[in-house]
Amino acid sequence: MNLGLEGRVALVTAASRGLGRASAAALSREGARLVICARGEDALGEAAAQMAGEVLAVAADVTATETPQRLVDAAVERFGRLDVLVANAGGPPPGRALEPDDAAFEAALNANLMTSIRLVRSAVPHMTTNGWGRICLITSSAVKQPIPHLTLSNTARAGLWAWAKTAAADLFPLGITLNLACPGSHATERARALGTAGVMGDPEDFGRVVAFLCSEPAGFISGAALQVDGASTAALL
Ligand code: NAD
Repeated sequence: MNLGLEGRVALVTAASRGLGRASAAALSREGARLVICARGEDALGEAAAQMAGEVLAVAADVTATETPQRLVDAAVERFGRLDVLVANAGGPPPGRALEPDDAAFEAALNANLMTSIRLVRSAVPHMTTNGWGRICLITSSAVKQPIPHLTLSNTARAGLWAWAKTAAADLFPLGITLNLACPGSHATERARALGTAGVMGDPEDFGRVVAFLCSEPAGFISGAALQVDGASTAALL
């Protein structure tokens, strides 16, 4: 299948490792030109070197308030346009419902809710100009079924899902789709750090799913939260 991504410009955040990196790699293999970010320059440079095509690597903390606009500006300055946004950030620490304090909630809401909203806000004007855009927010299967020991993630991502439903309806008439890619357990450093056991998905496959959601033929898929979880989520909706 031709995904129609040749020559498109894609911004993928938190992309030096794991699911963000795999998403960037899949888009790159489809011919997209990339802007990627992560905090550490070494890992970012190593990731950029592994991509198939042209890449601008920007060392930045995506959760800092000013970073999303800076990344979008860098994409437009380098490539003259922005077509695809894959919004990703590191996941919050574990904890049951009553364990995290206010500061922990604020940090999680900033990283896993507000950062995605800021990225979309900065990217949309460029997509609107072109009448075409694809936005994929990497979240978690927890948007459909909260995970008992990941209360910070559950809370931030459910909020993002509610926001995304509203945003998708606003953006679709402008030629822009917005979807969530919701990983279950995948074999990344985060999964290892959380001690995840059992059958795990391949991050490279997850990246290909993200590339499909950002593709030309996926143009009528918007407002979806796609579980990529090997049937581990029991929720019906
Ligand atoms: P990972 O820890 O393997 O990789 C995270 C990537 O994000 C790295 O490249 C890291 O450098 C970058 N990063 C982290 N914080 C950043 C910041 N503030 N600014 C810029 N870059 C930053 O994680 P992963 O497993 O790929 O997970 C990606 C997202 O998916 C996370 O939000 C995670 O919670 C979520 N998720 C993962 C799984 C899983 O099984 N892997 C399951 C559900 C949800």
